[in-house]
Amino acid sequence: MRAIVYDSPRSFDVREVPTPEPASGEIRVSVIQSGLCGTDLHLHEGQFMASFPFTPGHEVVGRVDALGPGVTGFFEGELVTVNPNSACGVCSYCRMGRFLYCSNFTGIGSSRPGAFAEYLVAPSSQVFSVEGMHPDVAVFTEPTACVAHGMDTLRPAPGSTALVIGLGPTGMMLAQFLAASGALTVTVADAVNFKVERALSLGLHDGIAMDRDDLVASLARLMEMSDGEGYDIVVDATGVAAVVEGCVSLVRNGGTVLVYGVADENDRVSLSPYEIFRREITIKGSFAEIDGFPRAIRALRTGRVRTEGLITHRYSIDRYQEALETLRTDRTAHKIVVHP
Ligand SMILES: [Zn+2]
Ligand SMILES: [Zn+2]
Repeated sequence: MRAIVYDSPRSFDVREVPTPEPASGEIRVSVIQSGLCGTDLHLHEGQFMASFPFTPGHEVVGRVDALGPGVTGFFEGELVTVNPNSACGVCSYCRMGRFLYCSNFTGIGSSRPGAFAEYLVAPSSQVFSVEGMHPDVAVFTEPTACVAHGMDTLRPAPGSTALVIGLGPTGMMLAQFLAASGALTVTVADAVNFKVERALSLGLHDGIAMDRDDLVASLARLMEMSDGEGYDIVVDATGVAAVVEGCVSLVRNGGTVLVYGVADENDRVSLSPYEIFRREITIKGSFAEIDGFPRAIRALRTGRVRTEGLITHRYSIDRYQEALETLRTDRTAHKIVVHP
């Protein structure tokens, strides 16, 4: 089969590799398409658990191609998605049931062969039926599952006010999931106007296009939109350090800042410990997911998280470099999907 293979950071090609055989308890999935996300840019640079050689791709939708010995509950041709993440079950975190903190956490598309390939093999416990869904909706299951975990971390109080900064596909889904999880108002902001308009068309309450060159003015406007009080919940979904700093100034006393965007590993922010203390601000992080798939599928099937119009670009794996460039630089790009 054909697959993208990285040998070292920034060095990959599309090559012929053996088609994987499903071992006992495993399923081989024939890939229809996989989403490209910011994590793939970090992996391209050799960050974020990349272990070489590897094949990226962790947001997959495909069809069951072959069942390994002992697998039941699936049929050949069934539309499925795959939870990329798994825990070892034996480390100290796993033994406490905190599987996401597993010391030996593995991910399909980072430490195990991923979905920018014709086929992919995964344990049946990580395969989920999305039969009847459109592949263009089902391809959003993994990022929506990460959002479900974000809600576990955040535990939004009923009736809270929320602000989400950054409307990439994941910020867009997070804002909608928040609205379905107890936030009474969800205000959104992004530097790109069409993303704000799309968010409003998907039913979010209020939003502004931020001025990239004048973050201070944009933050002041967002404060005004909260009647000068700030928000109970402020989410950074940009991964930009200066925005994370701004989030603290926009949170209400007793409120929570959620760091959801993937920042560069070397970024630093400046905070006032006195302000955190005096205003009783909570700062939380949310990383990936391990048990979000059932809720994500429900959110997508019920339309509580909507994705129409989010896919703006499609590439074959032969044009992977171009897909990465588009994600990095093209402000008209929203979700990019890659076909094998
Ligand atoms: Zn992703
Ligand atoms: Zn473990």
